[in-house]
Amino acid sequence: MLGRQLIDGQWRSEGTLIPTVNPSDLDEIVGQYPQASLADAQEALAVARAQLPSWSRTNIQKRADILRKTGDLLLARANDVGTLLAREEGKTLAEGIGETVRAAQVFHYFAGEVLRHPGQWHDSLRDGHNVIVSYEPVGVVAAITPWNFPIAIPAWKTAAALAYGNTVILKPSEFAPGCAVQLAEMLVEAGLPAGVFNLLLGNGRVIGQTLVEEADAVTFTGATPTGRHILQMAAPAMTKVQLELGGKNPFIVLDDADLDVAVEAAAQGTWGQTGQRCTGSERIIVTKGIHDAFVERLIKAVDAFRVGHALDSSTQIGPVANLAQLEKNLGFIERARASGAEVAVGGHLVEARTRGHFLAPTLFLDTDNRMELNREEIFGPVAGIIKVEDFDEAIAVAGDCELALSSGIATTSLRNAERYRRESTAGMVTVNAPTAGVEYHVPFGGRAPSGFGGREQGSASAEFFTEIKTTYINHGVL
Ligand code: NDP
Repeated sequence: MLGRQLIDGQWRSEGTLIPTVNPSDLDEIVGQYPQASLADAQEALAVARAQLPSWSRTNIQKRADILRKTGDLLLARANDVGTLLAREEGKTLAEGIGETVRAAQVFHYFAGEVLRHPGQWHDSLRDGHNVIVSYEPVGVVAAITPWNFPIAIPAWKTAAALAYGNTVILKPSEFAPGCAVQLAEMLVEAGLPAGVFNLLLGNGRVIGQTLVEEADAVTFTGATPTGRHILQMAAPAMTKVQLELGGKNPFIVLDDADLDVAVEAAAQGTWGQTGQRCTGSERIIVTKGIHDAFVERLIKAVDAFRVGHALDSSTQIGPVANLAQLEKNLGFIERARASGAEVAVGGHLVEARTRGHFLAPTLFLDTDNRMELNREEIFGPVAGIIKVEDFDEAIAVAGDCELALSSGIATTSLRNAERYRRESTAGMVTVNAPTAGVEYHVPFGGRAPSGFGGREQGSASAEFFTEIKTTYINHGVL
């Protein structure tokens, strides 16, 4: 595809074009994309600011209709968008279509939020007065997104921002920008006025500082170091910042777990979507009584995963999304081996019918929480088992990591589940379910350094995408 930027309703594809390559087939160029310059960024910021007054005052039925229509278009084109996603990012076709359907649901949800968004009315402490609390758009929002959910994350940032009356500049990852271009086309088709949503493509380091300094708010999803850098860039101008960052998510299996449930949740939560989920399980913490039986079953499950071309119907695990990520994964595997961890399954590249970044799902045994494997986010199909004495030690090991996004437990004891829910320091807890798998109607995010600045999704997203105004009215004199 020929990628295009969208600024003030004008499609632009001039300048040097940078290709994206299919990670399932390195001989296939998927798209050619222009690169935003500083001047493009400044122009997008100016038009987004110019459109802010009219969009923020646009009739709420009209705003809701545009979001709903965008959701309808995403649903109608889920096969096309999902196929592009699979070709550019490497998710299986089923995962790509599923992610597109989710993006549609997000737009439908926020169409409803436009109409549901409440204010508050209070009695005043003073006679003859009352107090109104209203929620106003935060302003021009820059949304900077990663490659691993190339339609869902742009959708949930854009839909929420527009619903609450903000104007938007979206900058997707340069590794997989195609779905964002298709989303921009659908927003235009749905009737969004020119300049309310603008799309910039290319390298985040070129335009990042300008966006962060000149937008009113930045919603960012990506790696923790990039998020820290954005926070620092935002400080002088006090740009409002929301960061959704990395995870090193623990999944605990207790002696009283249902083995089938535990194995399924660990396998899906760790290796599903090639392990490229910020909520994926990267540390599997198992108490000693169930350890051997669980490990034996898990090895079989992991070994049975079929790795291959993302568009092949038999494929369960697609390729790693890009060469940089593949090299990062292989580095972790090599260093884990060198530090004494035992490869139980995987640890090597896989041959398929095409030349691609295929990595076997990898499980290490005999690991502990001091190893790099269990401390740094890998973001690939690689995890280690940590054997512990009991639940107390499991909780201590799970919490012994500064990243705090998601955490899970497999147990048949309500008492243990509830204790874990209370004691986990993560932003999300799952019980007898994979650590990954987020729903759009409830808050999503983690505590620092996995997240910062308010949750996304559900009505909680209003906290970031709006500003509060408190109005005191002396009606006694009226
Ligand atoms: P990066 O942080 O490398 O990139 C994310 C986005 O930031 C890209 O659009 C990138 O542009 C842009 N960017 C990079 N540098 C700057 C800069 N200086 N200023 C402004 N923008 C910049 O993350 P990845 O794309 O590699 O995504 C993987 C990471 O995302 C993982 O750590 C993962 O955990 C995290 N993630 C977190 C989620 C969450 O909700 N918590 C969900 C999904 C992923 P460019 O493409 O040009 O580099």
